[in-house]
Amino acid sequence: MNKGLVIVLSAPSGCGKGTILKEILDQSEDIRLSVSATTRSPRPGEEDGKDYFFLDRKEFEEMIQNGEMLEHAEYAGNLYGTPKGPVDAWSEDGIDVILEIEVQGGSQVKEKLPDCVSIFILPPSFAELNRRLHKRGTETEEVIRRRLALAKAEMEHAEDYDYIVVNNDLKDAVEDVKRIIAAEKLRYSRCSDTVERVLIDAETV
Ligand code: 5GP
Repeated sequence: MNKGLVIVLSAPSGCGKGTILKEILDQSEDIRLSVSATTRSPRPGEEDGKDYFFLDRKEFEEMIQNGEMLEHAEYAGNLYGTPKGPVDAWSEDGIDVILEIEVQGGSQVKEKLPDCVSIFILPPSFAELNRRLHKRGTETEEVIRRRLALAKAEMEHAEDYDYIVVNNDLKDAVEDVKRIIAAEKLRYSRCSDTVERVLIDAETV
């Protein structure tokens, strides 16, 4: 059986990554989302085991020491990491899995799993990102400034990714991500089992 794809999706905040991800998962029944572990506190409405595995620092560090994290990174004062077990198991079973992670984690995954497909989401422009962050109206100017500085730092890592998707229009961005996944599944390296099967079959005709 061909292995499932490991898809890394990264984007600075305000680029619509959450909305794109939700659309992809709603539209594609065979793609699973990796549930990350974090030391940050749950936000209202977030469920343990569904949105994140909420751990304390000691539990998180134990997982790292036991080799149970595929990657991990510190972001805005909290630890985030991808539990290795489910990603390995799904991929072995031919199931595609998306990792919604920040750039430090993204580069660790690319190093450990060079065959993964990495996608970076960009806003149409920095001015537009600035506008979107202000439009939410929920954060102070200081918080927005910090987010913009972080976004710029993250965008500097875009060159490490395989694909860039510009989120100008949500529908187009979702289509772009779906097209990338569809094309990647057709790479020879991922279809070699199918080719082999047809060739074996050819011997019998
Ligand atoms: P939030 O706290 O807003 O849910 O997430 C903050 C950042 O952490 C986002 O950029 C998100 O992509 C990233 N993140 C979530 N899970 C993981 C993970 O497992 N590993 C890494 N490296 N980053 C993650």
